[in-house]
Amino acid sequence: MAIVQEIRCPHCSAPISFEPGEIIATCKYCGYTVVVETGKPFTFEHSMLLNKYDPNEVEAPIRNWMVAGFLKPSDLARKSKITAKSLVYLPFWVVSIEAESVYKGIFERITPPVVKEGKIKKKYDWLIIGRKATEFPTREYDVPLTGKIPYDFRKIEDYAKVLNSEIDRNGAEKLAIQQIDEHHRYLVQQDVDRIIEMENEMKTDQTVYLHAPVWFLEYKYEGRTYQLLIDGATGATIKGDIPSTGFGIFS
Ligand SMILES: [Zn+2]
Repeated sequence: MAIVQEIRCPHCSAPISFEPGEIIATCKYCGYTVVVETGKPFTFEHSMLLNKYDPNEVEAPIRNWMVAGFLKPSDLARKSKITAKSLVYLPFWVVSIEAESVYKGIFERITPPVVKEGKIKKKYDWLIIGRKATEFPTREYDVPLTGKIPYDFRKIEDYAKVLNSEIDRNGAEKLAIQQIDEHHRYLVQQDVDRIIEMENEMKTDQTVYLHAPVWFLEYKYEGRTYQLLIDGATGATIKGDIPSTGFGIFS
């Protein structure tokens, strides 16, 4: 078990507990957010998204997901039992970046090959999860940023868990730049077969620390347990394990 440490909240003096590796911690009693190492306040924007479901209501989006789509067993909604439900506010960094990549490459699909040049220019609200060892499918999560409000501890349900970030703001911005670079390389490779050069210009507009409600769910179907992640703000499925239907080439 991880050792939980504590610091005093500079605002309400309640204990703020944090685990090794956590860099930014939020007080459960007043919502004050501190940088663990220095004990100083976190001075940048800290926002949250509101959860719309209680543990009973969240069954509706689960059932909706179970009955939708072709790949699922037709009796999935009827036969499965939801065995675990927990609401977790996950820490994210939303890095707003204007990215421009200018590239030169060789297009080899014709003879003779030609040199091609091009440019990709895009604006992103790039999402970095503030946890290092998580399997969360960040790229599949379409975070509903229009609903964000300033972080308000009173809006956090008693039964919910709030996770602190293990990555600081600079670290998140670096990761975002690195991932956008990889993403642009991938895009460039749709246009040329071999990249000769690529130059990036990335401008970070704003970086927001955001807690987003995600339901971690488990259901049992024909004796096996499957996992499902549902966005508490919209009810959308972020990721869901689908039982094999018992036919087809992959079963
Ligand atoms: Zn406090």
